[in-house]
Amino acid sequence: MSTATPPSDTAASPIPSRDPVFDELGFPTDPDNLYTQTVGQMLTAAEAINLQHRVRIILAQPKNEVMVHFPVRMNDGHHRLFKGYRIQHNNALGPYKGGFRYHEDVHLDDVKSLALLMTFKCALVRIPFGGGKGGVKIDPRSLAEDELQRVTRRYCAAISHIIGPDHDIPAPDVGTNAQIMAWFADTYMVSSGYADNDALRVVTGKPVSFGGSQGREKATGQGVADVLAEMLPGIGIPLHGMSVTLLGFGNVNSWAGRILQDMGANIVAVMDHTAALRNENGLDCHALAAYSEQNYGIAGYEKQPTATGAGTRADKGVEVISEEEFYRTKCDVFIPGALEQMIKPKQAEMMNCKVMAEAANAPCTPAGDRVLQDKGIEIIPAILANAGGVTVSYFEWLQNKSCVTWDAGHVDRELNRHMCAAAQRALDARKRYNCDLRTAAFAAALEHLGEVYKVRGIFP
Ligand code: GLU
Repeated sequence: MSTATPPSDTAASPIPSRDPVFDELGFPTDPDNLYTQTVGQMLTAAEAINLQHRVRIILAQPKNEVMVHFPVRMNDGHHRLFKGYRIQHNNALGPYKGGFRYHEDVHLDDVKSLALLMTFKCALVRIPFGGGKGGVKIDPRSLAEDELQRVTRRYCAAISHIIGPDHDIPAPDVGTNAQIMAWFADTYMVSSGYADNDALRVVTGKPVSFGGSQGREKATGQGVADVLAEMLPGIGIPLHGMSVTLLGFGNVNSWAGRILQDMGANIVAVMDHTAALRNENGLDCHALAAYSEQNYGIAGYEKQPTATGAGTRADKGVEVISEEEFYRTKCDVFIPGALEQMIKPKQAEMMNCKVMAEAANAPCTPAGDRVLQDKGIEIIPAILANAGGVTVSYFEWLQNKSCVTWDAGHVDRELNRHMCAAAQRALDARKRYNCDLRTAAFAAALEHLGEVYKVRGIFP
C-alpha cells in the first residue's frame, strides 16, 4: 500500500487569488508546488497582521540554497554520485536550525519548504533559532550500514563549511536517526579541527551516550501529545477515551501513539507504507512499535500471537483495511505523521474526524485544508503540533553548551511548558485576527520575526 500519493491537487473549491509577492519574486505558477503553497500560507498571515513588505519578501525566499554532489564508494567497489541539499532559510532569531532527511524523493522545493517551516516553528515556540533543512536523495534502506555511514560522512564533509555549532545546526528528520547524527558529529569534529566537546553542538538528536538529550527521540511525538492535552478540553474532547487514527508510523507517530495510548486514548487505526490496520477497541501501539521496528513496517502485525503480560500484544481483533477504509474510519483526532501533501481534497472528503493534528511537516495541501475547514474540522498546524522535536533539540544544544545533563523529567516539563505557551500564543492570535488556527500560528510567529526585523533594521 502506498501512502506517498503523487502531489496532484485538483481542488473542488476555488483557489484564492495569488499574492503579488509571488510575481514580484518570480515564483512558479504551479498551484501544486509545495514551496509556493507554504509561502502562500505565510503570506496569508503576513496580510492579516499587516507585516511590512520588506519582511514579507525576505521571508519568502531562503537566505542560502546549497546543493552538493558527492561520490561514495559502494560495497561492490563502484562509486555512486549522491545529491544533497542544505537550505538556510532565515537566521534573524539565531543560528539556522533543522534536520536533514534521507529519502529518494528529496527535491529542492521540498527542502526549501521544510526550512521555511523551521523558521516559523522556532519563532512560534520562542526558541533562539532560525530555520534550515537538509537532505540527501537516497533510499536509506537500500544501503548497507557501512555505506550509509560513508554517505553521512561525505554529506557532512560537503556542507561542513556552511554549518557550525553557532551558525547552522542539523538534526534528524525522515530517514535519519541518532546513529547518523553521531557519524555526522564525529566527522565534523575530526575534520574541522574543533575536536573539543563544544563542537558537539553542531548537530542535535545525537545518542544520549554522545551528548544527546534525554527525551529527544520521543520529543516530536511528546510535543504532539502536549499540544493535544492543552487544546482538546477547549474543543470539548476528553483525552481519556478519545479515538485517534495515525497516518504514518515512523518515529513521530509511533511515539505519539504510545504516549496518547498511555494517556488513555484509543488508537483505532494506523496506516503506514506497508499496510492499514484497524481495531475499534484500540491497537497496542507499544507492541506495534516494537513489531514495526523489526519488520520495517506494520504489515503482518495482525498475524502475531496475542497474549497478556509485559512485552506481548493484547489487542485482539486487529483487521487489515483498505486505504479508503482507513481514511473513512470515524475518530476524534486524525494525526498525519508521514510525508508532505498527503491530505488532498480526495482524502479530506473521506476523513471523519473532529480534529486533525499535523505531526508531519506540511501534510495537508491548501485545497485539502479548505475541504477540512468546510467540514468544520479543527486543524492544529504543523508549526505548532510538531515543534516538540526542535524544542528538545534546543535543550540538547543548551546542555552541550553549558556542560550539564538534564534528567528526563526536567526535559518533559520544559517541553510541556514551551508547547503549552506556543499553543496559547496561537489561540490568542486566532482571537485577535479572527482567523483559522494555521494562519494564527503563522501570525504569532510573524509578529515575533517582524518585531526583530524592526529593531535590527536592514543592513546597511
Ligand atoms: N526534523 C525535525 C523537525 O522537522 C527536528 C529539527 C531539529 O531538531 O532541529 O522539526
